[in-house]
Amino acid sequence: MRVLYVEDEKLLADAVRHNLERQGISVDIAPDGEEGLNKALSDIYDCVVLDIMLPKLSGTDILKRMREKNVQTPVIMLSALSEIETKVGHLDRGADDYLAKPFKTVELIARIKALVRRPKAIDTAKITFGDLTLDKSNATLNGTQLTAKEVEIVTEFLKNPETLISKEHLLAKVWGEDTFGEDNYVETYISRIRKLIRNVHSHAKIVAIRGLGYKLLES
Ligand code: CA
Repeated sequence: MRVLYVEDEKLLADAVRHNLERQGISVDIAPDGEEGLNKALSDIYDCVVLDIMLPKLSGTDILKRMREKNVQTPVIMLSALSEIETKVGHLDRGADDYLAKPFKTVELIARIKALVRRPKAIDTAKITFGDLTLDKSNATLNGTQLTAKEVEIVTEFLKNPETLISKEHLLAKVWGEDTFGEDNYVETYISRIRKLIRNVHSHAKIVAIRGLGYKLLES
């Protein structure tokens, strides 16, 4: 499990990271709102913990931008402002949970685990790019059956068409953090997906950008 913790109080951030890592949870810290937003938008985390009062960009703004960009990672908001209106306001804006500062780390860990365990809403969405349609309700691409991993990879490309997607991003997103250096997983799957795209007679194609990653384009 990998968590992003956006927190400008360094001592608190380090203490929380230490306690979470003892529970086997990997933690990336972002010390300000800008870095927090960039990391959150990478969409590789199982949970994002957002302090509200931050330099550069507030936790509230990060949450708003994440949801605008369709990053649906569960978010826990932290704040010393414990008024009920603040809590309700953030839950309305798409936060999944809210914890008042000061908090006990065990409480935060329990909340993180509860959110990550929560089954994701069944995703019946269809995603389209050009003449390609991924139907996630039955895991098909233009009617052809895909494996679970293929669905995850195709989703990344269809959600970010004409955008460079690095191997590292795909690895972290689809295989998790324990697969460093396994670039050949990505290559193997990309070649399978290219073949699938050809077999459904689509005009779209995945091009390799040497040393950087891949892009889905309409040819
Ligand atoms: Ca703060």
